[in-house]
Formats: sequence, C-alpha cells, structure tokens
Amino acid sequence: MLTLTNNEMTAFLNNDSAARTQANISRRAQTLFQNGYTVDESSVTGLYFITGPQGQEYQVNIGTALGNHCDCAAFDKYATCKHFQAVDLMQRDEAQAAEYDAQDAYDPCELAFA
Ligand SMILES: [Zn+2]
Repeated sequence: MLTLTNNEMTAFLNNDSAARTQANISRRAQTLFQNGYTVDESSVTGLYFITGPQGQEYQVNIGTALGNHCDCAAFDKYATCKHFQAVDLMQRDEAQAAEYDAQDAYDPCELAFA
C-alpha cells in the first residue's frame, strides 16, 4: 500500500490541481475566438492585441523583447494563459497553412517537363 506523508499528499494535490489548471487554460485557448474574442496583429512582430467579448483588452507578446508574455492576471499567476495560448495556436495554424500552400504550389510534372 502506498502511504504518503502530509507533505507528500499536499505536493500531490497541488500538482494535480496545477495539471487541471493547465488543462483548463489550454481548453479555453482552443475556443477563445469562437467565444467572442478577437485578435489584432500589431505592426510589431510578435505583439498582438486581444479584445474580449466585454471589451477587455490584453497584450500578448510571442518572442518579442518581452519574451512570451500576456498582461492578464492569469499569466502572472500561471506563466501562461488562454490569450497567450490562443495566439500561439493561431500562429501554428498559419505556419501549417503556409506549408500546405507551398506544397500545393510544388508541381512535379511542371519540373519534369521544364
Ligand atoms: Zn492572458
């Protein structure tokens, strides 16, 4: 039988709750833009402005001089947040779309008869 000391139990519970928090954040990130949030890309590479359904505004930095950052309270607490993860997901989708486009543009027949 597994016996945990009080300290171990506390650590276990805290880890579990941290894992649940992370899962919640990433689930909310995946539906952020369906839930009324919008994103504006600024003229600074990696700086995005997120506007929430109630008009709340957040600044998300991805790989800027500030590093990876969002100015919301959740990011301060968890070092990640749904705004940051939503923009990160969007960037990955765009990169993947660009890759597919590049593959579409590649026509082996054209090269064979060039
Ligand atoms: Zn945030």
